[in-house]
Amino acid sequence: MSTPAIPIQGRPRRNTVQRTPVDHDKSIEAIRTFLQSKDCLSILPVSSKMIVFDTRLQVIKALNALVQNGVVSAPLWSSVESKFAGMLTISDLVHLMQYYYATTSSYEGAADDVEQLTLGNLRDIETAIEVLPPPLHSIHPMRPLLEACHILMTSHARRLPLIDHDDRTDVEVVLSVLTQYRVLKFIAMNCKETLGLQKTLLELNIGTYASNSDTSLEPLAVATMDTTVFDVVHQFSAKGISAVPIVDEEGAVINLYETVDVITLVRLGSYQSLDLTISSALAQRSAEFPGVITCSPKETLANVFSLIAKRRVHRLVMVEDEDKTLPNGQIRRKGALVGIVALSDILKHVIGFKDISIN
Ligand code: AMP
Repeated sequence: MSTPAIPIQGRPRRNTVQRTPVDHDKSIEAIRTFLQSKDCLSILPVSSKMIVFDTRLQVIKALNALVQNGVVSAPLWSSVESKFAGMLTISDLVHLMQYYYATTSSYEGAADDVEQLTLGNLRDIETAIEVLPPPLHSIHPMRPLLEACHILMTSHARRLPLIDHDDRTDVEVVLSVLTQYRVLKFIAMNCKETLGLQKTLLELNIGTYASNSDTSLEPLAVATMDTTVFDVVHQFSAKGISAVPIVDEEGAVINLYETVDVITLVRLGSYQSLDLTISSALAQRSAEFPGVITCSPKETLANVFSLIAKRRVHRLVMVEDEDKTLPNGQIRRKGALVGIVALSDILKHVIGFKDISIN
């Protein structure tokens, strides 16, 4: 056993980092073994803050609390039943906007309604707009991290609450929330084997790619500055995606509209303003927006992990690194959109998850 070159993130634990295999498949195997050997608790930082909302709290108050604390989701607690009641996530806000847009004719009416709405009522909104309620999955903190990753992928959830049970009081305890990013960062910080992941995103088919036969960008969901927020929000909901690249007429990536941007609209009381163009909505975006992270489809997975170790990555937008002539003679320019790599795409490859719900 040797000491890793990079400091361990989270609780100090015995680590099992061995020599670095250079072969991609062997590196992946070693990372899976590592994930099986660690429990979910290992991933938690030594000290962290967690916000849990009572389901009786008004949505608007919860939203303000999320923004003030710089988080985008929180576990819900039913004090009536004394148990975990799911997660408040941005998908709930997307649904809320869709609901008010479809059902309320006046801004005042929607504003009054939202003032009254509690977190517990959000499930009624989902029923009304006929979308599935969010998964109610959780995992015990002592279960292996690999198992948590499989639950995340099977449930299509971006986060998984760690729920313990207090035997003394016989009540559930929400300990923390495990996110896809936290798992990937934990791997990036603690597994030297990531250096052996020398195959490229394209070779591994990690991500969703634009068709290679023409410049249409299918099957990617994209928008332009003139697209309405309504259309983009609809794509979030219909396709279960969390971001849509904004492209110009040549297909070059000029920005990204994310589900987190919806928080601004709901907080500003703009649930009736889905008619705004993306251009106007982006003008309201906080100056803290970290920017769009782009990369080439020829980037190695090793480099992607090294980026994840250094900065908070939500997704990578793949762009052409040089002009490319497509089979039909059209040219895809350098900087044009090629695809999207979500954190779930990377995690799927790492744990060897095959999505049987597709096809
Ligand atoms: P995400 O919403 O980022 O968690 O991504 C979920 C899945 O949808 C992943 O497989 C992504 O590659 C894919 N995806 C993300 N954004 C888009 C988009 N704008 N168009 C098409 N697929 C996408």
